[in-house]
Amino acid sequence: MKIPKSHPRYHSLKMREKLVEFVEKGVVHKTGLIAHGRGEAFDYLLGEKTIKQAERAEEAAAAFLLKAENPVISVNGNTAALTAESIVILSKRIPAKIEVNLFHRAEERIRRIKKLLEAHGGEGILGEYPDSKIPGLEHDRALCTHEGIFNADTVLLSLEDGDRTKALKEMGKVIIAIDLNPLSRTSRCADVTIVDDVNRAVLRITAFVKNLKGKNEKIKNLIENFNNEENLNAVIEYIGVRMKELASKDK
Ligand code: ATP
Repeated sequence: MKIPKSHPRYHSLKMREKLVEFVEKGVVHKTGLIAHGRGEAFDYLLGEKTIKQAERAEEAAAAFLLKAENPVISVNGNTAALTAESIVILSKRIPAKIEVNLFHRAEERIRRIKKLLEAHGGEGILGEYPDSKIPGLEHDRALCTHEGIFNADTVLLSLEDGDRTKALKEMGKVIIAIDLNPLSRTSRCADVTIVDDVNRAVLRITAFVKNLKGKNEKIKNLIENFNNEENLNAVIEYIGVRMKELASKDK
């Protein structure tokens, strides 16, 4: 079905179509559709736009990524399907390594995600040959590469589950999480939580990276002045106010 551009939920519907297409191509796991649905619900409450608290976190994220010595972007099926091109651009601009890391690990899916990133110019994509394990996690979810996630000082992740975020945090890493749910365990435990759609977030972080490069004093100030708890509380307050507005509009 062709979705008319005038449809009020055009972008949301296009994203759904894209995810279904990539489930069929073996890039996105079936459960990725459910995870996306949870995200969409929050995006609806945010008004499907980048709110100023998200923008603040995106700028802080850019500062942390530029300050890092070994930044790594952790990519899963949904993120690859929705943002392959912009993730590759961001990784080159920082520069940062990309590692494919999956909740439902399957070798074939890792290869497909890697190929998708390579088709958009990605190079040296890690994750296919893990040689290390994230301590405290059971089964294949712990698998990672020493060169990438294991040794990273800063990890940018999206649509992540709380257990792995917590385990990475316990390894002493700076965690930057893109997660539309400000209440998730990932959101609560990250150092910088970006409550925004992964597409919008990656594009904005990239723009901030471009602006901040070489401005060391500004980078230092952004890092020192960012308070994740305060910012998350402001997001939750924003959602509360907007829910009341939406409810009164229909009366
Ligand atoms: P946690 O374990 O951290 O409490 P969870 O169990 O809700 O989180 P998962 O289902 O593993 O998390 O991951 C999905 C997360 O990704 C959800 O919090 C959801 O809000 C978020 N999400 C889904 N789609 C998007 C998207 N397009 N952009 C940003 N975040 C998204």
